[in-house]
Amino acid sequence: FMSKIYIALGSNLDEPSEQIYKAINLIDAIDDLSVTHISSLYKTKPIGKIDQPDFINAAIEVEGDISPENLHAALQDIETQAGRIRKELNEPRTLDLDILLIDDLIMKTKKLTVPHPRMHQRQFVIVPLFEINQKLNIPGIGPINKILKSLPDQGVVKI
Ligand code: ATP
Ligand code: CA
Ligand code: CA
Repeated sequence: FMSKIYIALGSNLDEPSEQIYKAINLIDAIDDLSVTHISSLYKTKPIGKIDQPDFINAAIEVEGDISPENLHAALQDIETQAGRIRKELNEPRTLDLDILLIDDLIMKTKKLTVPHPRMHQRQFVIVPLFEINQKLNIPGIGPINKILKSLPDQGVVKI
C-alpha cells in the first residue's frame, strides 16, 4: 500500500547542492517511489565537530509502496554511490539521507528508528520539513508547528 514518507538530506563535501539534487533524482528513480515535494535548500552550521564546512540541508516528501527496510537499504546505496565513507559521528560527508517519518509509524530495530530519534531537536531538519508540510504530526512527539517554535536558533539560513 502507499506510504507517505519524509526524508532529510544533508551534505557538506564535494559540491553539496549538487549532491542533494542528484540524490533527489536517484530517490525518485527507486522502484515504486516518487518524490512529491522538495523543500528549499538551507545552509546550516555543523553540529558536534564545528571545524568543518557548513552543511546544505533539505527535506523531501515521497510516496510509494516500499518496506522501511528496503527504503533504508536503497538510501544507503545512494549514500555509497555519492562516495560516503563511514568513520566517526558528526564527520563531514558527501551525503546523508535520514528517514524522518513513515506515515504514523513508530518502529525501533537495530538498524532503523522511526521517527528519526533526533529530528525534533534539529532546526536543520524541522525548518525544511515544515516548509513542505505545516500540518505534520511527529508520532510520540507532537505537532511540527509547536516543535518549530520550541527550537533555539541553530543558524539555519534558506538559500
Ligand atoms: P544522526 O542519526 O544523529 O543524524 P548520522 O546520520 O550521522 O547521525 P549515520 O552514520 O548516517 O548517522 O547512521 C548511523 C546509523 O543510524 C545507520 O547505520 C542506520 O542504520 C541508523 N538509523 C537508525 N534510524 C535511522 C533512520 N531513521 N534513518 C537513517 N538511518 C537510521
Ligand atoms: Ca543524520
Ligand atoms: Ca544518517
